[in-house]
Amino acid sequence: MDGIGVLMMCPMSSYLEEELSKRFKLFRLWDVPSKNDFFRANCDSIRGVVGNAAFGADSELIDSLPKLEIVSSYSVGLDKIDLVKCKERGIRVTNTPDVLTDDVADIAIGLVLSTLRRLCVCDRFMRSGLWKNGEFELTSKFSGKSVGIVGLGRIGSAIAKRGEAFGCPISYHSRSKKPNTDYKYYSNIVDLASNCQILFVACALTEETHHIVNREVIDALGAKGILINIGRGPHVDEPELVSALLEGRLGGAGLDVFENEPEVPEQLFELENVVLLPHVGSDTVETSQAMADLVIGNLEAHFLSKPLLTPVV
Ligand code: NAP
Repeated sequence: MDGIGVLMMCPMSSYLEEELSKRFKLFRLWDVPSKNDFFRANCDSIRGVVGNAAFGADSELIDSLPKLEIVSSYSVGLDKIDLVKCKERGIRVTNTPDVLTDDVADIAIGLVLSTLRRLCVCDRFMRSGLWKNGEFELTSKFSGKSVGIVGLGRIGSAIAKRGEAFGCPISYHSRSKKPNTDYKYYSNIVDLASNCQILFVACALTEETHHIVNREVIDALGAKGILINIGRGPHVDEPELVSALLEGRLGGAGLDVFENEPEVPEQLFELENVVLLPHVGSDTVETSQAMADLVIGNLEAHFLSKPLLTPVV
């Protein structure tokens, strides 16, 4: 397979890069001096694309690669891939489901604990020697608080399971009520937000879920409510979130994702009821390797005409 051209969109994992270069003719898009010249020279030899949560395969890229057969994404989210175009062109698409579920659910719980118990503020308090001057302020409890989940898929369900272990009543919103669960279902996200204290966003990003958390949802969650977003930044209307936090209309937020990454609204930096992470939900050594192995396994399966491991299209 070492003659097959595979294009990597951006650096994502040195292990993945190394393993891909052992098997395929690997092109690194971030290394090319001129994209136009690069595509002119290599468009006919690229049969696979490896993207991630930041750089996928949009319509322009797909149009510039006439021999493209497969997009193997190092992510579970598919929002950076033009799935309609892939379907039309018969291009296969794969992602990395399941292997990252636990890590993302773990970070969601880490975010809610850090936000409610002010763990990052406590850490700064200690490091600046303030303990000698007095005790830290009282914080807010997580165990037993009512949890609402937007998108009860793989990650949403793993958050629910963790929430149950903390004694939290669980409810959720998605397009359809899930069989095999007793969690309370809300067909309307505003009703979910009105009836929970902590709202986790864990749905897929689509046209429908863009800004699914808008001013009405934020106001329904309210001045004591906490928003945790481990889905995608554009799920939340960020300017509305910032003003709700500044005006005290929302109790706090734990955010792993942002609308315009890596840009983050600077007003958030001043707020002690906000915890910010640089989109690291699935970024552990273990999971990164498992994701890379899936990317490679899918490419190998495709080029050996075997069934794909995790097909989407
Ligand atoms: P999944 O199993 O496909 O779950 C997605 C859920 O979204 C489904 O339960 C679906 O339920 C729900 N959904 C889709 N459209 C909806 C809508 N219009 N309204 C409400 N709910 C909707 O995917 P997953 O593996 O749990 O991953 C979920 C998302 O997490 C990914 O798409 C990705 O964007 C994000 N993610 C983030 C990180 C990170 O590092 N922060 C890492 C991995 C994944 P219905 O079909 O019933 O509506």
